[in-house]
Amino acid sequence: MVPGQGVLRIDLGAIVANWRDLVARHGAPCAGVVKADGYGLGAAAVAGALRDAGCDTFFVAHLTEGLALRQALGAGPAIIVLNGFPPGADGEAGLWPVLNGLGDVEAHAAAGRAAGAARPALLHLDTGMARLGLDAGEQRRLAEDRGRLAGLDLRYVMTHLACADEPEHPLNTRQAQRFGLAAARIAPGVPRSFANSSGIFLGDDHASDLARPGCALHGINPTPGQPNPMRQVVTLEAPVLQIRSIAAGDTVGYGASWAAKEPRRVATVAAGYADGYLRSLSGRSLALLRGRAVPLIGRVSMDLTTFDVTDVPEAQVGDSMMLIGGPGNTPDDIAARCGTIGYEVLTSLGARYARLYS
Ligand code: PLP
Repeated sequence: MVPGQGVLRIDLGAIVANWRDLVARHGAPCAGVVKADGYGLGAAAVAGALRDAGCDTFFVAHLTEGLALRQALGAGPAIIVLNGFPPGADGEAGLWPVLNGLGDVEAHAAAGRAAGAARPALLHLDTGMARLGLDAGEQRRLAEDRGRLAGLDLRYVMTHLACADEPEHPLNTRQAQRFGLAAARIAPGVPRSFANSSGIFLGDDHASDLARPGCALHGINPTPGQPNPMRQVVTLEAPVLQIRSIAAGDTVGYGASWAAKEPRRVATVAAGYADGYLRSLSGRSLALLRGRAVPLIGRVSMDLTTFDVTDVPEAQVGDSMMLIGGPGNTPDDIAARCGTIGYEVLTSLGARYARLYS
């Protein structure tokens, strides 16, 4: 441990338990989505634990993430690159690209035909996200000429849900219908990959041969508005560097945005927005010190954050302030306080923390 720096504790057992829970709910296999360095928690460690528990398929976003994960995991698990990559760009790593447009289909199919060996890949059909994936026109053209797929070994045909965290949203049903029809026309007999974390909770219409949960593995609530069924995975602690007494009228931090109405004790903690403790939490968050909630006061700085610890008189320099974790202080709770989502809280966690896995 480096003195004066924060510690991120990551419970790999909880991640594995979440994966097993999701497999049981889905009633069919689940991959592990570990893009953005395992949602900020460390892709190699997270995927390694899942692989040891029996997960054999992983999704990342970028080619470089895929190459790093292959190095970490060795041969064996399927590693799929959601954003795709040009034919051959993965070298000897044996990654599978997601084909997100007809151009990708043609490039990889041509490479497969030229090599005389069909290329493993996933075909992504857009059914309502309008982000990546073959659009309706491309799907029509491919359905009319499926010969374009020669040279490809399609492992899955997939789509991605836009509103799965809103179970009543009509797009959920529409996407299921569109996906069913398009997959049957374009890639009959090819296994399907459909639900993300929230999609697993939408029931049978959204089940498939391979779900792709990410956030729920990492403890984020896939069913917002209902109790979180997932186990919490992460805590973030940072040390108290100084404690000082301030008088009524004194202000704290940049912009003098917070003023004491009466004498207070202020603890300065070694984490700030450069560490992913978001600046938008300024004046609207709390942390746990010796098991008690203490309010964040003033603005979050780049490397430091200040808390009012008057109500914890035994607080000392060197104490650990729990910035994330504990009752009322999960990544989702913190996100709600500053108008974002738990995904952003996790993936913002900076590189300066020691990551301790258990
Ligand atoms: N599938 C795709 C295509 C994604 O882009 C993502 C993440 O955004 C996931 C699956 C995992 O989603 P979630 O983290 O909501 O489970």
